[in-house]
Amino acid sequence: MEKIKMTTPLVEMDGDEMTRILWKQIKDELILPFVELKTEYYDLGLVHREETKGQVTIDAANANKKYGVAVKCATITPNAQRVKEYNLSQMWKSPNGTIRAILDGTVFRSPIMVKGISPVVKTWKEPITIARHAFGDVYKATEYRVPGPGKAELVYTGEDGTCFRETVYDFECPGVLQGQFNKDSSIRSFARSCFQYALDTRQDLWFSTKDTISKQYDHTFKDIFQEIFEAEYQARFEAAGITYFYTLIDDAVARVIRSKGGFIWACKNYDGDVMSDMVSTAFGSLAMMTSVLVSPEGNYEYEAAHGTVTRHYYKYLKGEETSTNPVATLFAWSGALRKRGELDGLSALGVYADALESATIETIESGVMTGDLCAMWEGDVPAQKVSSLEFLRAIRTRLEQKLG
Ligand code: NAP
Ligand code: MG
Repeated sequence: MEKIKMTTPLVEMDGDEMTRILWKQIKDELILPFVELKTEYYDLGLVHREETKGQVTIDAANANKKYGVAVKCATITPNAQRVKEYNLSQMWKSPNGTIRAILDGTVFRSPIMVKGISPVVKTWKEPITIARHAFGDVYKATEYRVPGPGKAELVYTGEDGTCFRETVYDFECPGVLQGQFNKDSSIRSFARSCFQYALDTRQDLWFSTKDTISKQYDHTFKDIFQEIFEAEYQARFEAAGITYFYTLIDDAVARVIRSKGGFIWACKNYDGDVMSDMVSTAFGSLAMMTSVLVSPEGNYEYEAAHGTVTRHYYKYLKGEETSTNPVATLFAWSGALRKRGELDGLSALGVYADALESATIETIESGVMTGDLCAMWEGDVPAQKVSSLEFLRAIRTRLEQKLG
């Protein structure tokens, strides 16, 4: 079998712990035998982030901007315990946060569905993708406790001296106070990423906020989306046969639960944080959830939604066989290769990515799966728990049949 050739390199961002082990196994078993893989490699493992004082993450993000498509392994976001464990010179920020800030992108999370593992919500037949605006609001708020009676005000002083002053509350007792912000530029990028991704994946786009209560703040989100939709995307949406739909967040929640799925739900930062955990749990498993960061210029970074699966890694280090689910990481590779093929006009890469994904799904549907899925299995055939490597080899056998 001749290997598929690539023209532009994929930006490869390696990571940490169990997912780093899976990363190599996926490449060795399922990619390198079939594709003459061209990547520009960045090691985002914590050891190398420390060695480069964080520079490697910035370089990787800039390479993502240069080439357009990246695939990323899960990485450790250090906390105090990791600083000790890895003898770090500082508590490096989350690589995902750094990359997101450089690309100015929005994260889209979608479940991978298989027959035999059904969503908790029985009406859901197709994936629901959540787009979370990952900037501002309560995540960048200024807040403090109010010690006692007194007046709380919201003050803005313009560079030209303009001043707005509004009373928030006349406190008669102790309480709490918070100031939030967002920027038109960030909301615009969010809107463009959402419209772009809806076109890319030919899915309807829903957007929800609480604009009836928040008549300036949330209403600005609604207005900016509408303005950009009409000016830049409406005609393309009509041509693609998809729709843009705005509704109040409470109405959206009710509609999502009654829906069949098969759309993108764009959410403000907090709503996206909460709803993505609810939707992913209802679909089954974090190990079956993919994630793609899309920038308004059309740069893509594919990854799994889960972390480095530390608990399994410590078992692996002790020499125990682990049954960690590689599906989301594998779909990050297939998603990135498919997109690379699309941008470079290499249809063979797309065919390969489709075959890799269907081989994976069929392997699970045949009853061969990792431990996490066995626990949820409701299929007709009995579930057979295998190790990560056995699972990847079973996929390989199917993939060879499909491509050979
Ligand atoms: P996690 O790695 O997602 O794992 C949490 C638990 O979920 C695991 O212990 C495991 O449950 C289950 N799980 C997750 N992925 C699985 C898979 N592929 N196969 C089987 N089971 C899976 O989250 P965490 O333990 O909270 O975080 C570990 C590290 O990951 C942290 O250092 C964190 O900073 C980092 N992290 C990185 C990213 C990212 O790079 N995008 C995202 C989140 C967290 P059982 O133990 O019950 O089997
Ligand atoms: Mg959350």
